[in-house]
Order: sequence, then structure tokens, then C-alpha cells
Amino acid sequence: MIRARKTKQRDAVRAVLEGAQRPLSVDELLKAASRRVKGLGVATVYRAVGALVAEGWIETVEIPGEPARYERADKGHHHHFQCEKCDRAFDVAGCLDNLRKLAPPRFRVKQHSVTLYGLCAACAP
Ligand SMILES: [Zn+2]
Ligand SMILES: [Zn+2]
Repeated sequence: MIRARKTKQRDAVRAVLEGAQRPLSVDELLKAASRRVKGLGVATVYRAVGALVAEGWIETVEIPGEPARYERADKGHHHHFQCEKCDRAFDVAGCLDNLRKLAPPRFRVKQHSVTLYGLCAACAP
């Protein structure tokens, strides 16, 4: 019985991430998944997220100074937008292909991350 409940809770977290259009923090996941399943706690969300990361189904989105967020791992190369007002992170499609030219001569760029900051459409006046 307890096992069935745990599975249901993890499925709820998975379903939220499946339908998410942007990276979500544990708090956001807890809020959204709680609408699907009763009695969900933050520890359960952390465990579910840990298991899904270990599975390789989701990835951690690290934005400096922000809580970790999570998104499906199959999205392909993209970047993020951090809203300074509502604190939500969004996906930004595409990339700048001349980024590696910014590195000094003979330096070899292996990866990069780009975060845009500002106001999202809902928060912009
Ligand atoms: Zn906003
Ligand atoms: Zn890029």
C-alpha cells in the first residue's frame, strides 16, 4: 500500500515534468504535483527528482544564485531566461554560433551556458 502510494507520488512529479514548458524548482514541482496527488511532501519530491536525474530522464538547470531547477533531458541545446520579478526560469530557443570565437587564441571551448535576465512577458509593464 505504501509502495503504491509512493509510486503514485513519483508518477505525479514525472507527469508535471513531462508537461512542463519551462524548468521547475522543487518548490514549483511540489505545488504543481500536489494538485494531482494527495499528501505529497517536499522530501518525496526531492527523492523523485533524484531518481529521475539518476535515470537520465531529467537534467539539472543551474543558474547562479538560484535554486536548482529541472527539465527533461531530451530538449536539445538551448538556454534560459530568468525573470527578476516572478523568479521563474524559461527556455530560450537557439544559440549564438559565434560564442566560441570569444575565447582567446588557441583556447579550446568545450561548453558554455547563457542566461538572459530581465522581465518575462507576464511581468513586463
Ligand atoms: Zn516574470
Ligand atoms: Zn548555446
